[in-house]
Amino acid sequence: MAEIKTKEEVEKIRAAGKILAKVLKEVSIAAEEGVSGKDLDKLAHDLIIKAGAEPAFLGYQPGGAARPFPATLCLSINDCIVHGVPGSRRLKQGDVVKLDLGVRYKGYCADAAVTVVIDPGSDEARKLIKATEDALEEAIKVARPGNTFGDIGYAISKTASKRGFKVLKELTGHGIGKNVHEEPTVFNEGEPGRGRMIKAGMVLAIEPMFAIGTREIKQLHDDGYATVDGSLSAHSEHTIFVGEDETEILTL
Ligand code: MG
Repeated sequence: MAEIKTKEEVEKIRAAGKILAKVLKEVSIAAEEGVSGKDLDKLAHDLIIKAGAEPAFLGYQPGGAARPFPATLCLSINDCIVHGVPGSRRLKQGDVVKLDLGVRYKGYCADAAVTVVIDPGSDEARKLIKATEDALEEAIKVARPGNTFGDIGYAISKTASKRGFKVLKELTGHGIGKNVHEEPTVFNEGEPGRGRMIKAGMVLAIEPMFAIGTREIKQLHDDGYATVDGSLSAHSEHTIFVGEDETEILTL
Protein backbone atom coordinates (compact mmCIF):
# COMPACT_ATOMS: atom_id res chain seq x y z
CA MET A 1 0.00 0.00 0.00
CA ALA A 2 1.16 3.54 -0.74
CA GLU A 3 3.34 5.19 1.89
CA ILE A 4 1.66 8.54 1.33
CA LYS A 5 -1.93 8.45 2.56
CA THR A 6 -4.82 10.43 1.10
CA LYS A 7 -6.88 12.80 3.24
CA GLU A 8 -9.71 10.26 3.27
CA GLU A 9 -7.39 7.49 4.42
CA VAL A 10 -5.94 9.64 7.21
CA GLU A 11 -9.49 10.47 8.33
CA LYS A 12 -10.24 6.76 8.73
CA ILE A 13 -6.99 6.07 10.59
CA ARG A 14 -7.77 9.05 12.85
CA ALA A 15 -11.18 7.54 13.65
CA ALA A 16 -9.55 4.17 14.41
CA GLY A 17 -6.99 5.98 16.58
CA LYS A 18 -9.66 7.74 18.64
CA ILE A 19 -11.37 4.44 19.44
CA LEU A 20 -8.03 2.83 20.22
CA ALA A 21 -6.95 5.61 22.59
CA LYS A 22 -10.17 5.29 24.62
CA VAL A 23 -9.96 1.50 24.83
CA LEU A 24 -6.28 1.48 25.75
CA LYS A 25 -6.94 4.01 28.51
CA GLU A 26 -9.71 1.79 29.95
CA VAL A 27 -7.53 -1.30 29.76
CA SER A 28 -4.58 0.43 31.41
CA ILE A 29 -6.82 1.60 34.27
CA ALA A 30 -8.12 -1.97 34.69
CA ALA A 31 -4.57 -3.40 34.83
CA GLU A 32 -4.34 -3.94 38.58
CA GLU A 33 -3.03 -6.57 40.95
CA GLY A 34 -5.09 -9.78 40.69
CA VAL A 35 -6.47 -9.14 37.20
CA SER A 36 -5.52 -11.71 34.57
CA GLY A 37 -4.30 -11.11 31.03
CA LYS A 38 -7.42 -12.86 29.76
CA ASP A 39 -9.61 -10.42 31.73
CA LEU A 40 -7.87 -7.46 30.10
CA ASP A 41 -8.07 -9.08 26.67
CA LYS A 42 -11.81 -9.60 27.03
CA LEU A 43 -12.27 -6.00 28.17
CA ALA A 44 -10.30 -4.70 25.16
CA HIS A 45 -12.24 -6.95 22.78
CA ASP A 46 -15.65 -5.98 24.15
CA LEU A 47 -14.90 -2.24 24.09
CA ILE A 48 -13.61 -2.37 20.50
CA ILE A 49 -16.68 -4.27 19.29
CA LYS A 50 -18.98 -1.91 21.21
CA ALA A 51 -17.34 1.01 19.38
CA GLY A 52 -18.20 -0.62 16.04
CA ALA A 53 -14.56 -1.43 15.26
CA GLU A 54 -12.52 -4.63 14.94
CA PRO A 55 -9.43 -5.89 16.78
CA ALA A 56 -6.58 -5.56 14.26
CA PHE A 57 -4.20 -8.04 15.94
CA LEU A 58 -6.65 -10.95 16.39
CA GLY A 59 -5.80 -13.54 13.72
CA TYR A 60 -2.95 -11.42 12.36
CA GLN A 61 0.32 -13.21 11.60
CA PRO A 62 3.32 -10.85 11.48
CA GLY A 63 6.55 -11.88 9.73
CA GLY A 64 8.53 -14.29 11.92
CA ALA A 65 5.48 -15.55 13.85
CA ALA A 66 4.66 -19.28 13.69
CA ARG A 67 0.89 -18.78 13.92
CA PRO A 68 -1.79 -16.08 13.78
CA PHE A 69 -2.05 -14.00 16.97
CA PRO A 70 -4.81 -15.54 19.12
CA ALA A 71 -5.97 -12.46 21.06
CA THR A 72 -7.09 -8.83 20.80
CA LEU A 73 -4.49 -7.40 23.16
CA CYS A 74 -0.75 -8.00 23.17
CA LEU A 75 0.14 -8.31 26.85
CA SER A 76 3.84 -8.63 27.61
CA ILE A 77 5.00 -8.84 31.21
CA ASN A 78 8.42 -7.90 32.71
CA ASP A 79 11.17 -9.37 30.47
CA CYS A 80 8.65 -10.04 27.68
CA ILE A 81 8.78 -7.03 25.36
CA VAL A 82 6.10 -7.41 22.68
CA HIS A 83 3.63 -9.89 21.14
CA GLY A 84 2.91 -11.61 24.47
CA VAL A 85 -0.33 -13.62 24.57
CA PRO A 86 -2.73 -12.76 27.44
CA GLY A 87 -3.16 -15.78 29.70
CA SER A 88 -4.59 -16.79 33.05
CA ARG A 89 -1.60 -15.47 35.04
CA ARG A 90 -2.77 -12.74 37.39
CA LEU A 91 -0.89 -9.46 37.57
CA LYS A 92 1.09 -8.96 40.74
CA GLN A 93 2.83 -6.07 42.52
CA GLY A 94 5.84 -4.80 40.65
CA ASP A 95 4.90 -6.31 37.27
CA VAL A 96 5.89 -4.16 34.30
CA VAL A 97 3.04 -4.68 31.85
CA LYS A 98 3.12 -3.72 28.18
CA LEU A 99 -0.35 -3.23 26.69
CA ASP A 100 -0.23 -3.05 22.89
CA LEU A 101 -3.41 -2.74 20.88
CA GLY A 102 -4.43 -2.48 17.23
CA VAL A 103 -7.86 -1.31 16.05
CA ARG A 104 -9.32 -1.51 12.54
CA TYR A 105 -12.18 0.84 11.65
CA LYS A 106 -13.71 1.19 8.19
CA GLY A 107 -10.81 -0.84 6.82
CA TYR A 108 -8.00 1.23 8.37
CA CYS A 109 -5.77 0.50 11.34
CA ALA A 110 -4.21 2.35 14.26
CA ASP A 111 -1.64 0.93 16.68
CA ALA A 112 -0.53 2.13 20.12
CA ALA A 113 1.06 0.79 23.28
CA VAL A 114 1.63 1.85 26.87
CA THR A 115 3.57 0.29 29.72
CA VAL A 116 2.16 0.32 33.24
CA VAL A 117 3.67 -0.88 36.49
CA ILE A 118 1.52 -2.63 39.08
CA ASP A 119 1.85 -0.65 42.32
CA PRO A 120 4.09 -0.12 44.09
CA GLY A 121 6.72 -0.99 41.44
CA SER A 122 10.41 -0.14 41.61
CA ASP A 123 11.94 3.26 40.86
CA GLU A 124 14.03 1.62 38.17
CA ALA A 125 10.92 0.26 36.41
CA ARG A 126 9.31 3.69 36.50
CA LYS A 127 12.45 5.32 35.12
CA LEU A 128 12.57 2.75 32.31
CA ILE A 129 8.94 3.39 31.36
CA LYS A 130 9.44 7.17 31.50
CA ALA A 131 12.47 6.84 29.21
CA THR A 132 10.40 5.12 26.48
CA GLU A 133 7.65 7.75 26.86
CA ASP A 134 10.15 10.60 26.58
CA ALA A 135 11.89 8.90 23.64
CA LEU A 136 8.55 8.66 21.85
CA GLU A 137 7.92 12.35 22.48
CA GLU A 138 11.38 13.28 21.18
CA ALA A 139 10.90 11.07 18.10
CA ILE A 140 7.52 12.66 17.30
CA LYS A 141 9.13 16.14 17.50
CA VAL A 142 11.56 15.27 14.70
CA ALA A 143 9.04 13.33 12.60
CA ARG A 144 8.75 16.20 10.13
CA PRO A 145 8.95 16.43 6.34
CA GLY A 146 12.56 17.07 5.34
CA ASN A 147 14.00 15.16 8.30
CA THR A 148 15.07 11.55 7.94
CA PHE A 149 14.30 8.22 9.60
CA GLY A 150 17.84 8.46 10.98
CA ASP A 151 16.70 11.54 12.92
CA ILE A 152 13.83 9.57 14.47
CA GLY A 153 16.14 6.66 15.36
CA TYR A 154 18.72 8.99 16.83
CA ALA A 155 16.13 10.82 18.98
CA ILE A 156 15.11 7.45 20.44
CA SER A 157 18.55 5.90 20.97
CA LYS A 158 19.96 9.14 22.41
CA THR A 159 17.19 9.17 25.04
CA ALA A 160 17.94 5.55 25.95
CA SER A 161 21.68 6.07 26.32
CA LYS A 162 21.29 9.30 28.33
CA ARG A 163 19.16 7.41 30.87
CA GLY A 164 21.42 4.36 30.93
CA PHE A 165 19.00 2.00 29.16
CA LYS A 166 19.42 -0.21 26.07
CA VAL A 167 17.53 -0.05 22.78
CA LEU A 168 16.34 -3.56 21.94
CA LYS A 169 17.69 -4.84 18.63
CA GLU A 170 15.59 -5.85 15.62
CA LEU A 171 12.27 -4.55 16.96
CA THR A 172 11.03 -1.51 15.01
CA GLY A 173 8.10 0.74 14.26
CA HIS A 174 6.37 0.80 10.90
CA GLY A 175 4.07 2.48 8.44
CA ILE A 176 0.38 1.70 8.99
CA GLY A 177 -2.84 1.98 6.98
CA LYS A 178 -5.03 -0.79 5.57
CA ASN A 179 -2.52 -3.18 7.10
CA VAL A 180 -1.05 -3.11 10.58
CA HIS A 181 2.50 -3.32 9.25
CA GLU A 182 3.42 -1.39 6.12
CA GLU A 183 6.49 0.31 4.72
CA PRO A 184 8.50 2.21 5.79
CA THR A 185 10.31 0.61 8.72
CA VAL A 186 10.80 3.06 11.60
CA PHE A 187 14.08 2.15 13.29
CA ASN A 188 14.70 2.87 16.96
CA GLU A 189 18.34 3.72 16.23
CA GLY A 190 19.96 5.93 13.64
CA GLU A 191 22.34 8.72 12.72
CA PRO A 192 21.10 12.31 12.34
CA GLY A 193 20.46 13.15 8.69
CA ARG A 194 20.91 9.55 7.52
CA GLY A 195 18.37 7.10 6.12
CA ARG A 196 15.26 7.73 4.07
CA MET A 197 13.48 11.08 3.99
CA ILE A 198 10.29 11.55 6.00
CA LYS A 199 7.50 12.81 3.75
CA ALA A 200 4.26 14.68 4.38
CA GLY A 201 1.33 12.26 4.19
CA MET A 202 3.09 9.38 5.93
CA VAL A 203 1.29 7.62 8.79
CA LEU A 204 3.77 5.95 11.14
CA ALA A 205 3.67 3.81 14.26
CA ILE A 206 6.69 4.89 16.31
CA GLU A 207 7.53 2.53 19.16
CA PRO A 208 10.64 2.81 21.34
CA MET A 209 11.42 -0.44 23.21
CA PHE A 210 14.10 -0.34 25.92
CA ALA A 211 15.51 -2.78 28.46
CA ILE A 212 17.57 -2.40 31.61
CA GLY A 213 20.31 -4.92 30.94
CA THR A 214 20.63 -5.95 27.30
CA ARG A 215 20.02 -5.14 23.65
CA GLU A 216 19.51 -8.80 22.75
CA ILE A 217 16.11 -10.42 22.25
CA LYS A 218 14.86 -14.00 22.01
CA GLN A 219 11.62 -15.37 20.59
CA LEU A 220 9.42 -17.33 22.98
CA HIS A 221 7.33 -20.38 22.07
CA ASP A 222 4.16 -18.26 21.95
CA ASP A 223 5.87 -15.92 19.42
CA GLY A 224 6.42 -13.20 22.03
CA TYR A 225 9.85 -11.55 22.30
CA ALA A 226 11.76 -11.30 25.56
CA THR A 227 15.11 -9.93 26.74
CA VAL A 228 17.82 -12.64 26.71
CA ASP A 229 19.02 -11.73 30.22
CA GLY A 230 15.54 -11.62 31.79
CA SER A 231 15.82 -7.90 32.53
CA LEU A 232 12.79 -5.62 32.51
CA SER A 233 11.64 -3.99 29.29
CA ALA A 234 9.24 -1.17 28.41
CA HIS A 235 7.43 -0.03 25.26
CA SER A 236 5.59 3.16 24.27
CA GLU A 237 3.86 3.62 20.93
CA HIS A 238 1.70 6.10 19.05
CA THR A 239 0.39 6.22 15.50
CA ILE A 240 1.17 9.64 14.02
CA PHE A 241 0.34 11.54 10.86
CA VAL A 242 3.09 13.64 9.30
CA GLY A 243 1.28 16.69 7.91
CA GLU A 244 2.77 19.50 5.83
CA ASP A 245 2.45 21.93 8.73
CA GLU A 246 2.26 19.77 11.81
CA THR A 247 2.62 16.24 13.04
CA GLU A 248 -0.51 14.89 14.69
CA ILE A 249 -0.73 12.06 17.20
CA LEU A 250 -3.69 9.95 16.04
CA THR A 251 -3.86 7.72 19.13
CA LEU A 252 -4.22 10.33 21.88
MG1 MG B 1 3.29 -1.29 16.25
